[in-house]
Parts: sequence; C-alpha cells; structure tokens
Amino acid sequence: MKQSKADIHLHSNFSDSTASIEAILNYFINKTDIRVLAITDHDTLKGAYYAQEYVKQHNLNLEIIVGEEVTSLDGHIIGLFLKHRVKPGLTAHQTLLEIKKQGGITVASHPFYQTGVKNEGKEIGGIGLKIVKKESNLIDALEVVNGNLMMYPYENKKAQNINKKYFNLATVGGSDAHFLSALGKSYTIFEGHTAKDLYNSLLNKKTTAVQGSWDIKSIIDYTIYITVAIISFAIFIIKQKINELKKILYKISFNIRSSYIDSDNYNQLYQPKEDSNKTNRKH
Ligand SMILES: [Zn+2]
Ligand SMILES: [Zn+2]
Repeated sequence: MKQSKADIHLHSNFSDSTASIEAILNYFINKTDIRVLAITDHDTLKGAYYAQEYVKQHNLNLEIIVGEEVTSLDGHIIGLFLKHRVKPGLTAHQTLLEIKKQGGITVASHPFYQTGVKNEGKEIGGIGLKIVKKESNLIDALEVVNGNLMMYPYENKKAQNINKKYFNLATVGGSDAHFLSALGKSYTIFEGHTAKDLYNSLLNKKTTAVQGSWDIKSIIDYTIYITVAIISFAIFIIKQKINELKKILYKISFNIRSSYIDSDNYNQLYQPKEDSNKTNRKH
C-alpha cells in the first residue's frame, strides 16, 4: 500500500507561532512533499478553520485536519479531527473525553517533557508517565518524535522506549513548528494518502514517527525564535515588577499625603487652642 507523510503538530500566528496560515500552506506546497497536515494551535481552532477555507478558495493540493493543542491542567494534549474547540483548564481525563466525544483522535504531545513545569499557572509540558498510565485507554497515540530541538535526542528516545516497554500505543511525529523553516521537519508516515487514511492508520496503529534533520537555516531561525521568546518573557516580567513597584510607591506617597493632611487638620483644629493655652500660660 502507498505510504504518505503528515505533519500532525504545528502552530500558526493564531496562537504563538510567527508564521501566518497563508505562509504555512505555501511553505508545505513549495518546500515539502507533505500534503496532509493538522493545524494544532494552542486552545483555538480559528487558524485551522481559516486554513481549511484558504485551501478551498485557492484550490491548493492540501488536506487540513482541524486540531488543537489543549492546555489541560495536567499538560498538553492534542485533539485531531475536531468539530468543536475543547476548552483549556480541564483535567487530562476530561480533556481526553471531550475529544473522544466528538469523534476526535487523542495524542499525548511531548508526553514526558517538563512535566510539572508551570507558566502563569499553566502546565506547559507533557502529561507525564502517571497520567499516560492512568488514561492509556483514552489515548490513541503518543508523540514519540517532537520536532522541537529541545526534545532531540533525549526526550524523544525516552518516549519511544517507554511506549515500547509499557503501552504499545500508535506513534506519531510532528514538527511542533513555531516558525516556517521548522515545518515538516518531523512527521508521521501513514498508509494511504488522505486525512481519512491517516485517521484509520492511527486507529489501527499503522503509523511511524520520523525524526527529520535540521539544516543551518532552521537552527538559526530556532535560535532567533527562542531569543525573541526569552526577551518578550523578560520584558513581561520587568513590566509586572514595574507595576508592582508603582503600586508600592503610590501606597507610600498616599500614606505620606494623608499623614500631611492629618497633621494639617490637626494643626487647624488644635493650633488655636494650643495658642490660647500658651497665652493662658503667659498669664
Ligand atoms: Zn506542547
Ligand atoms: Zn505544540
């Protein structure tokens, strides 16, 4: 049977990527042989719907799967073939059920990466071994190849080994691209060539995750992306600290002002009396 490639995990500027949907779709057409892809923005389906519409209008030879990387309380979970958005902030169990209820495919993205790490109260890593174990009957696939350079090679190897040893779930690879040149760098091989074929391959565990190689351009782009992300995060923290400092200074100045007002009032109210006392004392 003919085999094809799919990128099942990528982001657009509808969440935190620098790439627009138009640029992403044109990149796949012009620079890759991948024709089935899932837009899996963080907690939104808007980019995926827009991509489907764009493909239709421009008659592009691409099939778009509506996906979402949901920020669950326990970590990131991807829903593929979705009809409705799954809201963030649910437990992993609830999130998996929400995806299943609408006929979607559940994928634990970068499952064993940075579990327990939080950003503004949100879990930013994978769901971890404990949850994968507990929910393995609700998880269709493990992302054992994630294209983010941070996962290479240790995290991906770990996911592959754990899956082989304990779970034997379907395996997928996704680029997790947040900028153009990372798109399609890691991918999933499936039987057939349509999105429907990918769906069936996933359910029948007939998929293979492939780790792509990074060229100099994508490594430079990655370094720029990470640097910009770190700088924006630092600016965000500095702004927060400045706001806290402003509040403290305002409180101090308010206290000083009110103590002046109090002493003015005090002087106005009691000064004459004191004067008269003084006068009395003179007598
Ligand atoms: Zn993620
Ligand atoms: Zn992602």
